[in-house]
Amino acid sequence: MSFFTTHPRAPRIGWVCTAVGDMGRQKKDWVPCDVCGTLLRFPHLMSHPRFPGEVAVGCECAAGMEGIPQYLVDQRDREAKNRFASRRNFCGLKNWTQEGRTMWTLKHLRQEYRVVKGPYGGYAASIRREGEMAWTRLEGWHKKIEDAKLSAFDAINPPHRATVEAIEEVA
Ligand SMILES: [Zn+2]
Repeated sequence: MSFFTTHPRAPRIGWVCTAVGDMGRQKKDWVPCDVCGTLLRFPHLMSHPRFPGEVAVGCECAAGMEGIPQYLVDQRDREAKNRFASRRNFCGLKNWTQEGRTMWTLKHLRQEYRVVKGPYGGYAASIRREGEMAWTRLEGWHKKIEDAKLSAFDAINPPHRATVEAIEEVA
């Protein structure tokens, strides 16, 4: 049943897309649009300052809830899909180069990535953006080298992320 049928008092407009998800290639993992029921691999997660929780919808329903032109939502959808595809391929890129026993580097689309293995077995990542002289060390250690590589990817290619400002209710 549609979200707006089960939540008749929910706001119809003024929603913000906080993130776009990827449920994977398998159709059994896809989720229905909370509004129209269309099965979605890439749900747009919508939040509203006057509604608790998130609503997962497709592009058409998102445009209506956000009150923005369809092409802007489609553009966000396309960018998210491209990013997910790049992220899936990132760890296996052929030009990752091992230097010595504990360092891996990659130059890709004019950005530089580096992963080092620490003395205790974890992996840490650094990035150097195009035009920067110094490397930026990313926080944290990862158990798997893939996760360190992906943290570097995410730092250079951040996902779509919007925040919802809480609106103070006027009594
Ligand atoms: Zn829908």
